[in-house]
Amino acid sequence: MHRTKVKVAVDALDANQTIANANRHDFDHAGVAVVNLMSAPGAGKTTLLERVLASLDGVRAGVLEGDVQGSMDADRIAALHVPVVQLNTESGFGGECHLDANMVRSALEDLPLSELDLLVIENVGNLVCPAEFRVGEDARIMVSSVTEGEDKPLKYPLMFRACELVVVNKIDLLPHLDFNLGRLLANVDAVNPGARVMLTSARTGEGVDELREWLASIPDRARATA
Ligand code: MG
Repeated sequence: MHRTKVKVAVDALDANQTIANANRHDFDHAGVAVVNLMSAPGAGKTTLLERVLASLDGVRAGVLEGDVQGSMDADRIAALHVPVVQLNTESGFGGECHLDANMVRSALEDLPLSELDLLVIENVGNLVCPAEFRVGEDARIMVSSVTEGEDKPLKYPLMFRACELVVVNKIDLLPHLDFNLGRLLANVDAVNPGARVMLTSARTGEGVDELREWLASIPDRARATA
C-alpha cells in the first residue's frame, strides 16, 4: 500500500510539472519573468512587496496573490496601482496550503501578461508544500523572519534548498530577541551552500533597495538564459 501512495504522489508532481511547463511557455511568449515568493505565514512577504513595488522604476510588475481565503493582500497591492489578481485556494481548489501550476494557470487570463516585465507570485504562507510545486517561475525567493528562530533551515530543508535567494526579514527586531543570526546563516549554508542571503526590515526599509535591485534584474537574467 505504501508503494501505491508513493506512485500517486509522483504522478501528481509529474502532472504539475507538465502544467508548469505550459505556464513557462506562456510566460516566455508574453516576455514576462516570474518569481515565486514563499515563506511561513506572517514572515512579511506582502509588506516587503509593498515596499519594493512602491518604487520599482522601469520594471512593469504585476502580482498574483495566493491565499486560502480573503483578498486583504491583493487589496494592499492594488492600492499601489499594480495589476494584481487574488487566487483563493478555498474556491475550487480544496483550500490547498500552496499554489500549484494548475491554480496559477487558472489566474493567468486575468493578468495583462504581455504588458508586464515581472510577475511576482506570492505563494500561500507555508514552509512545506509550496517548495514541492513548480509553477513555471524563473526564480524562487523564500522569506524567513527572525522571529521564527534559527533552526528552520534544518527543520524545513526543502524550502530553503528550493530557492535562489533567502531573505531574512524583521531584522529591526534583533535587539529584542534571543536570536543568533550567525547560527541561522550557518544553517542556511548547511542546507543550501552558496545561497544568496539578504537581511531586510520591511518596517524600517533596511535592505529593501538590495531586494528591489535583485527583483528588477530577474527579467534581464531570464532573457540571458532563455
Ligand atoms: Mg501575504
